[in-house]
Amino acid sequence: MKAQPKASHYIDGDYVEDRAGSKIDVIYPATGGVIAQVHEATPGIVEAAIASARRAQEDWAALRPVERGRILSRAAHIIRERGRELAELETLDTGKPIQETLVADWPSGAEAIEYFAGLAPTVTGETIPLGRDFVYTRREPLGLCVGIGAWNYPSQIACWKAAPALALGNAMVFKPSEVTPLGALKLAEILTEAGLPPGLFNVVQGRGGVGARLVTDPRVAKVSLTGSVPTGQKVYAAAAEGIRHVTMELGGKSPLIVFEDASIEDAVGAAMLGNFYSAGQVCSNGTRVFVQRAIKHRFLDRLKARAAAIRMGDPMDEATQLGPLASEAQLEKVMRYIATARSEGARLVTGGGRGPMNSGFFVEPTVFADVTDEMTIAREEVFGPVMAVLDFDGEEEAVARANATEFGLAGGVFTADMARAHRVAGALQAGTTWINAYNLTPVEAPFGGVKLSGVGRENSRAAVEHYTQVKSVYVGMGPIEAPY
Ligand code: NAD
Repeated sequence: MKAQPKASHYIDGDYVEDRAGSKIDVIYPATGGVIAQVHEATPGIVEAAIASARRAQEDWAALRPVERGRILSRAAHIIRERGRELAELETLDTGKPIQETLVADWPSGAEAIEYFAGLAPTVTGETIPLGRDFVYTRREPLGLCVGIGAWNYPSQIACWKAAPALALGNAMVFKPSEVTPLGALKLAEILTEAGLPPGLFNVVQGRGGVGARLVTDPRVAKVSLTGSVPTGQKVYAAAAEGIRHVTMELGGKSPLIVFEDASIEDAVGAAMLGNFYSAGQVCSNGTRVFVQRAIKHRFLDRLKARAAAIRMGDPMDEATQLGPLASEAQLEKVMRYIATARSEGARLVTGGGRGPMNSGFFVEPTVFADVTDEMTIAREEVFGPVMAVLDFDGEEEAVARANATEFGLAGGVFTADMARAHRVAGALQAGTTWINAYNLTPVEAPFGGVKLSGVGRENSRAAVEHYTQVKSVYVGMGPIEAPY
């Protein structure tokens, strides 16, 4: 098979197979064909992964940070050298167009590795003077971290979690989504080639049950999950049993507010990027586009024209701009949301169907207008190329409606009025907001959610807080003054 890995799992520096685990078919979403098979991790495989990570972690943590960074930098270099091969595998695994996987997925992963390789040696403690005595603090690794990934950016997610974990002296056992199991294995292979000692980054395959087993293991110090809110609630609760550290990167229903003084062309472009890139399977997407009434018709006209011109097709063709959804289950879910939007009275502006492709899980770029706050499409995460456009009149109203959601991942504002831009960006209840931009997530900036969208932050210096813990060392400098 075209994309068949050497074996299902990667443990202690090499591929490992155990056919006793149930089979998982890896399906190319553009055709529906099986391109590889892996086996779900048995309890024995999970044990081997955890034990080897635990064995390796202490020596790794004892290295100078600059030495850890050197190995990670080499891995980032290898990722860049193999850019095309990795992008093709990512496209097979996810169905995303190669024009995206060449520039977004692995390249973003490589940047995270480069960033944390450079950051690690700068992480220090502080000295706290107490007159004669003093305290100094040490930032110590947490130990064994578990990473659990979603299927929308499988390799990027693996890199975003592995990079800070490893750079800061932890070991990681990573479980990719069962829908997209291939990229994480490549990352493990590349890290070994770059010189990472065996056991520090292990990959085990499986569905939720394997994830649950990892999360509850007493040897695990931290769990970082990227996934949906319902899964996040389960994983957070399970981690709480052992008082484990967590990072939860969960779903969203983010608002993008377009004021009448904005550049319509730019706002339309951003709304399209924030709804159609990766076939809409992006957690931070601006899926509720609030457009001020005065520009509604001009906005929708341009949006319709530009959305209808999107090239949907063979993901391996570099001209293709929109690929299929990642799975048949996701296709069915998205088509149900489209049907519900129509039945609840949203007006279909463009798209709504499966498009001209004869196979695969394709959905046309779809825009609904006249959407109201109560409609299902304005409340629930669709995770497909489906944009909801809502009208508004004033700033206060727009902000209040934008915030009237249980999610809080992201939000955006388009306006020429800079005071208003900063006011709105400040008022949005979200972990990330954009002004006259959308969905840019550079590794230098913290990324994460508020409300049900998550806890903790990935990327940037902020991630250091989530992969280390502080120890205080009190240093007594004089005689002990005991009262007895
Ligand atoms: P999901 O919640 O179904 O699965 C996520 C991962 O959790 C998978 O690997 C799955 O096998 C595992 N899992 C499921 N049940 C588990 C359990 N009980 N214990 C441990 N692990 C378990 O999510 P998905 O459908 O793969 O991904 C789409 C979702 O991810 C969307 O909601 C999207 O918004 C979110 N997402 C968030 C971010 C972010 O950074 N905030 C990024 C990408 C995707």
